[in-house]
Amino acid sequence: MKIKLGKIEDIYSRQLKDIRISVTDRCNYRCPYCMPLEIFGEKYAFLGRKDILSFEEIERLVRLFVNLGVEKIRITGGEPLVRKDIEKLIGNIRSISDKLDIALTTNGYLLFEKALALKNAGLSRLTVSLDSVDKDTYIKMNGGKYGPSRTLQGIEEAERVGFSNIKINVVVQKGLNDHNFVDVAEFYRDSKKIVRFIEFMDVGNKNNWKLKDVISSSKILEIINKKFPVEPIDKQYNGEVANRYRYIDGKGEIGIISSISQPFCGDCTRGRLSTDGKFITCLFASDGIDLKKPLRSNASDEHLISQIKSVWSSRNDKYSQDRFNFPKDADAQKNKVEMYYIGG
Ligand code: SAM
Ligand code: SF4
Ligand code: SF4
Repeated sequence: MKIKLGKIEDIYSRQLKDIRISVTDRCNYRCPYCMPLEIFGEKYAFLGRKDILSFEEIERLVRLFVNLGVEKIRITGGEPLVRKDIEKLIGNIRSISDKLDIALTTNGYLLFEKALALKNAGLSRLTVSLDSVDKDTYIKMNGGKYGPSRTLQGIEEAERVGFSNIKINVVVQKGLNDHNFVDVAEFYRDSKKIVRFIEFMDVGNKNNWKLKDVISSSKILEIINKKFPVEPIDKQYNGEVANRYRYIDGKGEIGIISSISQPFCGDCTRGRLSTDGKFITCLFASDGIDLKKPLRSNASDEHLISQIKSVWSSRNDKYSQDRFNFPKDADAQKNKVEMYYIGG
């Protein structure tokens, strides 16, 4: 390859370091904050098989991204474990580089069956979404689908097969789990798992987001602190999205992700690859550049790299920061892409 490789930066000097890949737009859950059942019912037209990137296409792009300085890949969706043979993709990505940090975010429903295969394929880390340990609340938060028992068993199995420091994601939404989210913290205290509480975000246009339904990170912290006193600790690395706190009694740590009340665009090194092959530079973008077409018309690596470089080097995204400072600009971004399609 004759083209210049190496790290690339956007107009605010943010290096492209992470890629989140949505490997499917489908999901076995219907969380109202992501894929509400009223919209994503039986008649909803998901992408067809030909429309989504094949494993070979994803691997080729990952190789190019790694040549451009990417250090971390997150496999997500939709629900990544519903994509057939997902462990093969992970194994092939692992063979690109031993050093690559490969993480996966899942709702955990299929984790019990998949944990060992994922570990053997070389997955580095797991994040499991679990909005409540209370059955009724959990069911409400995934669209009336299932209780939490399979996910809880999946988490145990993942630990048994050797995943350490599993992260647990809890979206906090007013009227749904604000009365009992602290129970998830309690459940995993003293377990080495890091529970991270996430403010309900205005991703996409279909989740009926309203500011009044957001429980701010300061409120989340206040509620946790009342029951289990915590103190702040430093971030582990630049660009870490969660603010970290440790329990004063030494029983582990939690994180709080404040996309709404304390945005972190300044450190955002994340690019996204949509299910159908668009390279997207912000969770709240309205579109991205299509890489599938050139991939399928025999474009050279040079061409693909120059496309990626030109998009990233002109990137000026800072949606979360502008959301309230410049609400008109944020409002203008009305056709935001949906989260299941670009990966949370
Ligand atoms: N299906 C997998 C899962 O739920 O873990 C992976 C994809 S999901 C889109 C990734 C993460 O985004 C999950 O932790 C989910 O809770 C979070 N998420 C989805 N919609 C959200 C919203 N509106 N606000 C905050 N977090 C959201
Ligand atoms: Fe599915 Fe995850 Fe979205 Fe819930 S958050 S609907 S589990 S993709
Ligand atoms: Fe990154 Fe966009 Fe989120 Fe800001 S709003 S942190 S630029 S993804």
